[in-house]
Amino acid sequence: TVVLGIESSCDETGVALVEIGPGGAPRLLGEALHSQVAMHADYGGVVPELASRDHIRRVIPLARQALEQAQRTLADVDFIAYTRGPGLAGALLVGAGVACALAAARDLPVLGVHHLEGHLLSPFLSDDAPRFPFVALLVSGGHTQLMRVDGVGRYALLGETIDDAAGEAFDKSAKLLGLGYPGGPALARLAEAGRADAYALPRPLLHSGNLDFSFAGLKTAVLTQVRKLPAGPDAATRADLAASTQAAIVDVLVKKSLAALKATGLNRLVVAGGVSANRLLRQQMDAACAARRARVHYPEPRLCTDNGAMIAAAAALRWQAGLARPERRYAFDVKPRWPLEPISQGGPAC
Ligand code: ATP
Ligand code: MG
Ligand code: FE
Repeated sequence: TVVLGIESSCDETGVALVEIGPGGAPRLLGEALHSQVAMHADYGGVVPELASRDHIRRVIPLARQALEQAQRTLADVDFIAYTRGPGLAGALLVGAGVACALAAARDLPVLGVHHLEGHLLSPFLSDDAPRFPFVALLVSGGHTQLMRVDGVGRYALLGETIDDAAGEAFDKSAKLLGLGYPGGPALARLAEAGRADAYALPRPLLHSGNLDFSFAGLKTAVLTQVRKLPAGPDAATRADLAASTQAAIVDVLVKKSLAALKATGLNRLVVAGGVSANRLLRQQMDAACAARRARVHYPEPRLCTDNGAMIAAAAALRWQAGLARPERRYAFDVKPRWPLEPISQGGPAC
């Protein structure tokens, strides 16, 4: 079965072709991606209207490119999947509209996919795919949550952020350091030259006894430090502050993930979402899990942030598990706000 997946929930337009057999893992046949980062950089954040318009411009050429790379045509596609939510309403409508239009023209069924389920299942596109059950740490621009995952569509929330997401903490701290948008990767780069113990920044909820997170206070602490800096701080000082910020975020993510493994008695961890690309996070998580004899799985680095491959893969895996049936119904809707847990088996599916 060949699935064409379309992602357009925020500021990346992604299209990919994934193949899946009855019992096997999803296999990526071809993919194309356009990031709008440069376009939004001038505004310091994503401008929803500009995002929608750019998705419209990009999605068809990207679909052609993905098909070409896979050396397939639409005639080889069995169904089309699109991100139904959560995300920016206008941006989601572009992907949903194009998916349904393509499908209607070709008499193909369509399936709406949960964006976070895409992130969560993206490691199944790696050679070293995880086995169920596992604990998942989902760390992206809009979400930070720990889940117990017993199978495709079987997700139980263990804890989540009560305010900012980890990616947001990276981005907001980066902005305070004058690093532009999205600052996560830039902050990580700057941090490489800094000392992680230069500033004692808070690790909120580290000893809260539950699996929730809080990152809003960290941003405030970074702001306080930035205000204390002399005008035009030197490069070393900024690097120190970046390194200390990154260390605080990573420390909390690693310790809470380990606490989740302990609480569930599981010894497999999946880390997914944009922040899972972070090198320090991977290093420290690998070390902490090795000490506990636990295995960690990540998406391939280029599949950590938004892409079409993870949407096609999630659709393929849901279809394979018999949890979702693509349909020839083209009266689509989107869900800008959409919690992941209720779509677990038994709950209302897509
Ligand atoms: P969501 O998936 O929650 O809807 P999103 O789609 O905007 O949000 P992703 O695309 O998964 O989020 O990830 C983007 C986030 O990941 C941004 O906050 C970005 O700064 C962060 N990020 C990406 N690479 C890195 C890195 N190397 N280090 C730290 N943060 C990173
Ligand atoms: Mg993005
Ligand atoms: Fe995302």
